[in-house]
Amino acid sequence: MESISVSHVAHFSTVGVAQFCIVDNINPIHESYDLKIVFPEGYPKEIPTVTETKHTIPRDPDFHTYDDGSFCLGSDIQLKGVISETPTVSGFVSKILNPFLYSISYRLKYHVFPNGGLAHGETGLIDDYEQLFDVKGKLSVLSVLEALGKRKRVANKIGCPCHCGKKLGACDFRSSLIKWRKLDKRRWFREHLSKSFSPVKIPKRKKRRPKVSKKPVKKNS
Ligand SMILES: [Zn+2]
Repeated sequence: MESISVSHVAHFSTVGVAQFCIVDNINPIHESYDLKIVFPEGYPKEIPTVTETKHTIPRDPDFHTYDDGSFCLGSDIQLKGVISETPTVSGFVSKILNPFLYSISYRLKYHVFPNGGLAHGETGLIDDYEQLFDVKGKLSVLSVLEALGKRKRVANKIGCPCHCGKKLGACDFRSSLIKWRKLDKRRWFREHLSKSFSPVKIPKRKKRRPKVSKKPVKKNS
């Protein structure tokens, strides 16, 4: 059995169904799936969608699969970043789809994800962006996205997401944002921020609460 090759996928640059086999040399898994892959018109800026059509993979957030069988392949910015580096069909397959299918197949076979698994939903997104942007905490992730949604000159005035206490414009951290800015327009980042995250209430000032020992709750009979 062979792994996915370009010839398998070259004929469905817009929409198509294909059988995929995943092979990994360390823990070989041989599996095939019927997939519908759609490369949107806006590719590589827009992310392709992949749907598993035979219901082999549970349509469950735990398997990063939505009710309609489409996959949650990863966070938008991570995917856009990988795709922008190799904006080809084979690049998408080898760098995004193949690893995704491998990890799902591994989970189906061994009941755990190969690398401990990723959280899904907003928590997964924040975990992912913390790594991607090299920051800690939801607030920092959101302020990176806020910065990416503004003109550089305006973004430089916000507090730096790296917790240095300076303005973004006064910290080297701003140069790490250049590569993300290239991925899309400022409006996209603003929409991503408002659509994908629940708002955070910023505490005015943290006061240390005295530790209160929990009293056992009396049961009302
Ligand atoms: Zn900083």
